[in-house]
Amino acid sequence: MYKFVVDRMLCRLGRWLRIFGYDTRIINEELDDKRSKKDLTNRRLVAHKSKICDDDLLIEIAKKDGRILVTRDIALHDRSIKNNLKSVYIGSNFIERQIFELKQAIGIEVALKMTRCTICNGDVKLYTSNREELSYIDYMPERLLSDKKERLWVCTKCGQFYWIGNHWRMMRLMVEKVNDLR
Ligand SMILES: [Zn+2]
Repeated sequence: MYKFVVDRMLCRLGRWLRIFGYDTRIINEELDDKRSKKDLTNRRLVAHKSKICDDDLLIEIAKKDGRILVTRDIALHDRSIKNNLKSVYIGSNFIERQIFELKQAIGIEVALKMTRCTICNGDVKLYTSNREELSYIDYMPERLLSDKKERLWVCTKCGQFYWIGNHWRMMRLMVEKVNDLR
């Protein structure tokens, strides 16, 4: 199965790749983690250098992790190819088209999976423990606490819960839309 690293202009596409079950690192999450640890007075300098940092880090991650680089930046795409990395250049600004471009380029499967956390890229597993104890989670609908027929999933890394709700129907529409594109 493909693994990806996407640049900061393609965060949304990165989250969709996770919804489709692909292991995807999103560059701004990585850099913001790193930068938040730095001295405040250093911020301006860091922001100024961020473009250079982004490109270097993207290439480093793609290389080290065997990931396909997905980018909106043609110069970075060319540089990656020269470095013998697998890279896909995305031309569109529209999310449906971006997913479609990637599908055309390397044949990703555009289907909803409940296997990867959209927030942290961790593995998502079916939640089988006691549900009554979950009432402290403010975003959890009450019906899910007692109704075991409704499946519940949890991220093994960050603890985010997932279930099939309204957002799932919206995602299904997106999948249909992309798969209808020609
Ligand atoms: Zn997570």
